[in-house]
Amino acid sequence: MFTIDDITGTLINYYATCRREAWLYARHIHADQSDDAITMGRVLADIRDKGQDFPFSHLHFDKLEKRGGHYLITEHKKTMSNPEAAKAQLLFYMYLLRTGLKLKKIDGKVISGKTVIFVEGSDEVFEELETMLAELVRFVQTPSPPPYEKTKWCKGCAYKSYCEG
Ligand code: SF4
Repeated sequence: MFTIDDITGTLINYYATCRREAWLYARHIHADQSDDAITMGRVLADIRDKGQDFPFSHLHFDKLEKRGGHYLITEHKKTMSNPEAAKAQLLFYMYLLRTGLKLKKIDGKVISGKTVIFVEGSDEVFEELETMLAELVRFVQTPSPPPYEKTKWCKGCAYKSYCEG
């Protein structure tokens, strides 16, 4: 059974972008493996995983630093087509670090090219995230995915062969 511990940053990103994509991914239905973005993502993940023995090495962010008693994590993205999804993904990593390491305060930053998005780790946003995580667990357990609806994300989506006829 899918539980909160099965949630990953990638799933959060998909959930914030397209519910159908999130459902397919959570059910281990694989995206088009020849897709360039997928291949690049897998290579980067392999390199990172081999180079780290940090207990949170499955979290794909790039830097964790301490600034005046606060922690700041930074993630560099090659591209950022959906800033809201990137924010949600980083917030999830911040949440895991905050709860796992019992940090009082942690903020985050996503950088893609010249775009820098600051993600504040307030109690309110972490409460909202917890609500979203519970919703996500219920959502993944629904027996079938939401129907296909064309959106601006479909063009670059590796799952489009599951949607567009
Ligand atoms: S092709 Fe569109 S509807 Fe289908 S999973 Fe991708 S983004 Fe979602």
